[in-house]
Amino acid sequence: MSDYTKILLEEHEMPRRWYNIVPDLPEPPPPPLHPGTRQPATAEDFAALFPKALIEQEMTQERYVDIPEAVLDVYTLWRPSPLFRARRLEKLLDTPAKIFYKYEGVSPAGSHKPNTAVPQVWYNAQEGIRKLTTETGAGQWGSSLALACVQFGLECEVWQVAASYYSKPQRRTMIEIWGGKVHPSPSEVTEFGRSLLKQDPDHPGSLGIAISEAVSQAVADPKTRYALGSVLNHVLLHQTIIGEEALLQLAKVGETPDVLVGCTGGGSNFGGLAFPFLREKLAGRMNPTIRCVEPTACPTLTKGQYRYDFGDTAGLTPLMKMHTLGHSFIPEPIHAGGLRYHGMAPLVSHVYNLGLVEAIAIPQTECFAGALQFARTEGIVPAPEPTHAIAAAIREALACKASGEEKVILTALCGHGHLDLASYDKYLRGEMVDLDLSDAAIAEAMKDVPEIA
Ligand SMILES: *Cc1c(COP(=O)(O)O)cnc(C)c1O
Repeated sequence: MSDYTKILLEEHEMPRRWYNIVPDLPEPPPPPLHPGTRQPATAEDFAALFPKALIEQEMTQERYVDIPEAVLDVYTLWRPSPLFRARRLEKLLDTPAKIFYKYEGVSPAGSHKPNTAVPQVWYNAQEGIRKLTTETGAGQWGSSLALACVQFGLECEVWQVAASYYSKPQRRTMIEIWGGKVHPSPSEVTEFGRSLLKQDPDHPGSLGIAISEAVSQAVADPKTRYALGSVLNHVLLHQTIIGEEALLQLAKVGETPDVLVGCTGGGSNFGGLAFPFLREKLAGRMNPTIRCVEPTACPTLTKGQYRYDFGDTAGLTPLMKMHTLGHSFIPEPIHAGGLRYHGMAPLVSHVYNLGLVEAIAIPQTECFAGALQFARTEGIVPAPEPTHAIAAAIREALACKASGEEKVILTALCGHGHLDLASYDKYLRGEMVDLDLSDAAIAEAMKDVPEIA
């Protein structure tokens, strides 16, 4: 460990362990099921995809997991991340509420995703793995994994949804800067990709197809594994560094949150911020209202069903009990690409089902209106995904203005929007519209969800 790392850990009280919420829950979460036998999946079922250490973390009952020193050392490139009080936004809104935001855009990739990419790569490296494959949509996850791979000398191969590969080339370039290899998906590299290109040489691709391609390459080589950037328990575990830091930072200024809001795509930045606070709430040490915020165009928690479903479109992954709109559901192309997922982390779904957290959906024009208020006061241009959390924080602050309550509001600003300026351009020109999802469209996609008692 470098001297600088030591100073950061000691003087800034950086947490040295991740928090696993599972042993503290009033009921255990339902287990994942093998897609063929539909029996609870075993560690063996995941062995071709993930290293042993991560499978262990996926299933662990331990309350805390020590963060390896080598991981802490990379974390200190941007951690601890700052917690800001949005005084200028509060003033604009003329609210008695205090708004705090934990800013994850300070990572080299510009989002919270390196918090899990770094440990995932390190554990793979410890088990002699030489290459990781993954899929990416707009490129946030692919670029984060490439950044982590170059830190530990692993190869990184990314299948990027073809439509984004051609229309949003900046993050593809970031992956290449960090030494990764990117294919448009469907690709000529895999049999599945070739079969799709034969039918349609201009196939736009989808996340489901990209997952299938990345998984097929990983299982074919004993020195290669696959990595996932959200949804799974071990991903949420790694992201709890966000909430553990925020707890310490708020304690330093003598505050406890009354309301906590976070955007949910697969659920990792939300779980990462919220779970340490939920631990405190379950222990009776504080009592915040905790709320998930999702787009009205992809309302997984507020309109989806809590059922066993596949994580990917092709139906290759284990079945997970989660809130889902159906694995064949294709969301409209809204601007917050990271929130366009048909499912939700099983752990977030479980705590929502238990009534421990709430959920709301907000249309994208309200989100971008809030993001402009935020950027014009706090200065930071948010990624399209956390504009949902900002809009929810603004709703809460305006309710405080009406009622005179002095609530403390906490949220995660999980990424900056410097590579998403085209979305802002659309909003500023008045070309952005709200997309509501019809009940008929949801019912249609739910038809493909397997019936499991
Ligand atoms: C990927 C991403 C998301 C969505 O993923 P979660 O697992 O729900 O956090 C949200 N915001 C940003 C900035 C992302 O890169």
